[in-house]
Amino acid sequence: MFAFMYFSVMKIAFHTLGCKLNYSETSFILKDFQNEGMKITNFFEEADIYVINTCSVTENADKECNQIVKKVKKINPQSIVVIMGCYAQLKPEKISKIKGVNLVIGSNEKFKLKKYIKEYIETKKNIIKVSNIKSIEKFNSAYSSEERTRSFLKIQDGCNYKCTFCTIPLARGKSRSNSINDIINDIKKLKKENVKEIVLTGVNIGDFGKKGNENFYSLLKEINKIENIRIRISSIEPNLLSNDIINLIADSKTIVPHFHIPLQSGSDTILKLMRRRYLTKNYSNLIKTIKNKMPHACIGADVMVGFPGETIDLFNETVDFIKSLEISYLHVFSYSERQNTTAINFKNIVPIKERKIRSKILRNLSNKKKNLFYINNLNSIRPALIEKNNKNNYLYGFTDNYIKVEIPYDHNLENNIINIDIKKINGNGFVNGNVINNI
Ligand code: SF4
Repeated sequence: MFAFMYFSVMKIAFHTLGCKLNYSETSFILKDFQNEGMKITNFFEEADIYVINTCSVTENADKECNQIVKKVKKINPQSIVVIMGCYAQLKPEKISKIKGVNLVIGSNEKFKLKKYIKEYIETKKNIIKVSNIKSIEKFNSAYSSEERTRSFLKIQDGCNYKCTFCTIPLARGKSRSNSINDIINDIKKLKKENVKEIVLTGVNIGDFGKKGNENFYSLLKEINKIENIRIRISSIEPNLLSNDIINLIADSKTIVPHFHIPLQSGSDTILKLMRRRYLTKNYSNLIKTIKNKMPHACIGADVMVGFPGETIDLFNETVDFIKSLEISYLHVFSYSERQNTTAINFKNIVPIKERKIRSKILRNLSNKKKNLFYINNLNSIRPALIEKNNKNNYLYGFTDNYIKVEIPYDHNLENNIINIDIKKINGNGFVNGNVINNI
């Protein structure tokens, strides 16, 4: 009892590494502590409890955790330190040995963080709670809500695919989803809270709804009936983006014309080694189908350079393939070795230095693609959601097709969707235009 009274006056700080899915989960878990009356402070300010929600994709995750723990222990040597999430799931023993770490909490257990912290306060004994991720069937829902303009809504978790470079299935387990009913209720709730845009997130969201008759298309059909909210799809595997989904989005007033479709490589040899479920022909046909239906659509792609076996000729195949595609930007990653993946045993390793060179080449190509996409949108009128963030008397936001806009500050435009007549590309990665009217 005494411990719990003390608990409610403590200060807690959260730090998230990795993707928006992780971010939405931190945001959701944090509410548990707010409801208890706890004060949430900024990370690297003085707090009684520091929680780091880790990622398995982050390079040098253990080094990063070490550094963060050292920093927070300097701020408050008496603080309780929690490492949770994907990396904690993969390496619990290693993390528990980091000096100053008190709790190591796995991917499924992190949703019971409050309980474990209370347990630690009572017993003062370090805790490691990590269950066998393969046996997890339960879906834990989550959405972010600190930022009022946009919310990241988790609809799916885990992945059943076996891409040879990926640790996500090991860290997050089997594919599982929320129900359509619950998702629609979450969207309606967020809409009432004045959120203007919701980004559907997950690990492999195209694989949504394995049980019953629910699938990603049937979810989108229901979402499409909701008016006056913008829905964005975070990322979808190319083999799961069907013509039905594309047609639905093309005619939708709710789901925006922005696709993020992982490509990973433009060489069929490498795609096969990666055990991806498509070939370059399928990918280019998909891009053509989208662009035929929605010439204004923004299409982003993840690409990985330096995968084992990627000779310079195969890399050049990727460069040429991307040049031939009407895509709008790239997220470029360098391959990095991960324990317990199939690819770690592959031969023909690409030297790190060469991975960096290839990464730079693709980043430059991405800038060119983005610029061209912006040029193609000049003199068009697009609805932009303006964020609540006055920076030097300017406001920023994104159009439906993911063009970043800058407009002079006007309090009335914050957290509103307004029509922008796109007039000029600003050298800083956004466009300027005229505000037409409020929608
Ligand atoms: S689709 Fe492949 S890369 Fe994506 S999470 Fe699943 S296994 Fe990893």
